[in-house]
Amino acid sequence: MTSEARTESKQNGCVVVENLKMLRRQLQLKEHAPVLLRTTLARAARIVTEVSLGRGTVAQLKELENLAQELAFLDATSADALAASLRNSFDEWQSHVSANSCSAGVCFQPRTVPCQEACPAHIDIPSMIAHIGHGQYEDALSILLKDTPLPNSCGLVCPAPCEDACVQKTVSAAVVIRPMKSVAARCSPSYPLPERAAPTGKKVAIVGSGPAGLTAAYYLAQKGHQVEIFDEREHAGGIMRYGIPHYRLPAEVLNSEIDMVKSLGVSIHTGRPVSNVKGLLSQGFDASFLATGLQNSKGLGVTGEDQPFVLGGMDFLSKVRAGENPRVGPHVIVIGGGNAAIDVAMTSLRQGATKVQMWYRRTRKDMPANPHEVEMALAEGVELIEYWAPTRILPGNLIEFVRSKNAPDAATAQPVTVHADQIIAGIGQEADLSWLEGSGIETKWGNIVADPVTLATGEPGIFAGGDIGHGASTVVAAIGSGKRAAESIHAYLTGTEMNHAALLSQRRDDVPAIATDAAARTNPMRPHVPERTPEERKHTHQPIQYDFDEKVAQAEAGRCLRCDQCIGCGLCELVCAEVGVEALRMIETPSGRLAFEDFIRPASLCIGCGACAAVCPTGAISVENRDGYRVTEITGTVVRRQAMSVCESCNEPFVSASQHDKMRSTLGGHASGSVICLPCARSRAVETMQDMYHHAAL
Ligand SMILES: Cc1cc2nc3c(=O)[nH]c(=O)nc-3n(C[C@H](O)[C@H](O)[C@H](O)COP(=O)(O)OP(=O)(O)OC[C@H]3O[C@@H](n4cnc5c(N)ncnc54)[C@H](O)[C@@H]3O)c2cc1C
Ligand code: SF4
Ligand code: SF4
Repeated sequence: MTSEARTESKQNGCVVVENLKMLRRQLQLKEHAPVLLRTTLARAARIVTEVSLGRGTVAQLKELENLAQELAFLDATSADALAASLRNSFDEWQSHVSANSCSAGVCFQPRTVPCQEACPAHIDIPSMIAHIGHGQYEDALSILLKDTPLPNSCGLVCPAPCEDACVQKTVSAAVVIRPMKSVAARCSPSYPLPERAAPTGKKVAIVGSGPAGLTAAYYLAQKGHQVEIFDEREHAGGIMRYGIPHYRLPAEVLNSEIDMVKSLGVSIHTGRPVSNVKGLLSQGFDASFLATGLQNSKGLGVTGEDQPFVLGGMDFLSKVRAGENPRVGPHVIVIGGGNAAIDVAMTSLRQGATKVQMWYRRTRKDMPANPHEVEMALAEGVELIEYWAPTRILPGNLIEFVRSKNAPDAATAQPVTVHADQIIAGIGQEADLSWLEGSGIETKWGNIVADPVTLATGEPGIFAGGDIGHGASTVVAAIGSGKRAAESIHAYLTGTEMNHAALLSQRRDDVPAIATDAAARTNPMRPHVPERTPEERKHTHQPIQYDFDEKVAQAEAGRCLRCDQCIGCGLCELVCAEVGVEALRMIETPSGRLAFEDFIRPASLCIGCGACAAVCPTGAISVENRDGYRVTEITGTVVRRQAMSVCESCNEPFVSASQHDKMRSTLGGHASGSVICLPCARSRAVETMQDMYHHAAL
C-alpha cells in the first residue's frame, strides 16, 4: 500500500471496521428479511469481525468475495460496498490477515474494560465487584489496594467516572460501583497490607498530605524508599479533611486509611510548612514531590469583597472541619454552582443559617455540581436563584446582582440589591505560589509546570502533581497522579526507565463468574444507597449516607456484565444468526463494545448447538452437557437449560431436542426420522458397508 493510500485509510478509518459497521447496520435494517439474506449477511459480518480481531485468514478473504457475489442477488447495497472495498483496498485487507497490521491503528487493540479505563486510578472493577458478589470482601479490598490507598474515602466521595462509562448503562442502568469500595473496606476482616521491597537507601520528601501525596508515598514505600511527608496543616488528608464536609467523608474513615499508609513506614510531619523546596534536597532527600493542592478560596473579583461579612468557601469549610465551629446566618448567600458551592450551602445550614440561597449565573442544568448533590441541597431547603451574577458588595451587608446576559429577560431586568448576613464565595480554589519564587520552578496560570508523563518540573529531582499540577479536579484524579509520580520518581532514583505499563489498566485477578439468573442480570433497577432524610440531617454533621448493605451489594454484583471476561466482540451473536437461530441480541455501546441486550431471550430460542461457544475468543459463553441437560451459559448466567434427546441406539443423551428439531426442519425431506448420535450413525454406516461387501463377496 502506498503511503498516500495509507494516510487516506487512516483519515477515513479502517476499511475492515467500516465494512463491519455497514454489515451490522444492514442486519439491523433487514430485521424481517428472508432467512437466507440474514444468514449470509451474518456470515459476512462474522468473518469481518474475525479479521478485525486478528483471527482472519487469507482463505476467509476469498470466502468474503464469494459472499459478496451471493449477496448481489439478496442485498445489492451490502454486496456492492463489500465487493468494492475488497477490490479497491485489497492490500489493506491482506495486511490485516497476513501481518495483523491495520494502518488506521484501529484493529487488534487489546480490549480494555470500560469502567476500569475511565477510572483515573484504573482499579480492576470487575474483579473487585465479582469478589463482593462472592462475599469475598478481603479479596475485593486486596484488588482495590493494588490501585489506591484510599478505597473507602474515595468510595464515599468519588464522582464515579467509572459508572458513566459502564456498559450496563447503555443496556439499562449503570452498575453501582462507587459504594462497592466502601463495602469491601467495611466488611473485610482485615486490611491486607501490601508488601514492601527491600530498602533502597533512597529518601523522598513529599510536600502535601492530600490524596496525591499520600498515594505517591504509598507506592514509593512499597518500592523500598524511605518517605517523609510534610504538611502545613495540623492533620493529614488535604482537602479530604479540610474541604469535603464530615457528613460526606467522616474523619474516622480517612484516619484509618492514613494509618494504613503510615504502617508502610511513611512518616507524616504535620504543622510543617515547606518554604524552601530546594532546601529539601540539600537536607538529604534524593527527590521531592510537590502535591500542595489549591488551598485558597478564589475571590469574587468584585469591589467591596474585602468586607468582614464576605467569606471564602474553602476558608469557611476548613474552619468547620478544623473544629472552630464558625456560626453563620440567619441569611447566607452562596455564589457559585459547583460541588464546593453545594458543600458551602449545606454546611451553612448545619452552622446555624435558616435561609441559604445559591445565586448562580446560569441555570440548574448548567451547574457543574453533581446533580445528586444539587438535589440533596434543594431537598434540605437551599434555594437556587438562577441567572444572576454579582457586581459589587456594599457596606451594610448588601450585594448587588445583575441579570446574566443568557437570561430570557436580560434586556429588561434591572439590577437587584440584596441583604445577607454572610456572602460566601464558592467559585473554586487557587494556590498561593509565592513560596516558589526564586526556586527556579516554573508556574503558569496558578499551577506548577510539570511534564504530563513524568511529572518532572524543570528542576532535577523535583516533581509535582495532583491539583497543583493538573488543576482543580477530584480525589481519584489526584490518586492517579500520585501513582504516576511514584513510578516516575522510582525511575529517577534507580536510574531506570519509567514503567509506563504499571500505569495502565491491569487485570489483577481471574475471579469466577457469579451465578446470576437471567432476570436479575437484565434487571434495569439500580439499588440506592440509603440516606438520612433532609429533616434528619440538615442540622447535623452526621454522615448523610447510611452504609451500603453488603447483601444488596452482592446482588448488585450480579448485574455486572463482566467486561473482563466478555470482550463484547459480537462473534457469538453473529454466528447464532448465521445458523438461523438469532437467540443472542447485543447492542452497541459508546465504548465500541457490544453488550448483551437481554439474558432472557435465549430461553425460548437457543437450541444449544454450541456455535457461539466455538467462536468465542475468551470462553465467556459456554454450551455444555450437564446431567442430561444442554446448558448455555454467559458469564455466569444460565440462559438456557434444555433436556437432551437420547440416542435410540446407545441410549446416551447427545443433542438438545430443539437442535434436533431444527436440523430436521432445515434438512426437510432429507432428515432421518430417527434420533441417533454421530458415533452410532458412523458404526451403523460401517456395519451397512460391511454387509454390502459381504453380500457382494458371496
Ligand atoms: C470543597 C471541596 C469539595 C470537594 N469535594 C470533592 C468530592 O466530593 N469528590 C472528589 O473527588 N473531589 C472533591 N474535591 C476535590 C478534591 O478534594 C481535590 O481534587 C483533591 O483533594 C486534590 O488532592 P491533592 O493531593 O492534589 O491536594 P490537596 O488535597 O489540596 O492537599 C494538599 C496538601 O498540601 C498541603 N500544603 C500546601 N502547601 C504546603 C506547603 N507549602 N508546605 C506544606 N504543606 C503544604 C495542604 O495543607 C494540603 O494538606 C473537593 C474540593 C473542594 C475544595
Ligand atoms: S458491566 Fe461491569 S465490567 Fe462492564 S463496565 Fe459495567 S461495571 Fe465495568
Ligand atoms: S461471549 Fe464471547 S463471542 Fe460473545 S461477545 Fe463475548 S467475547 Fe465475543
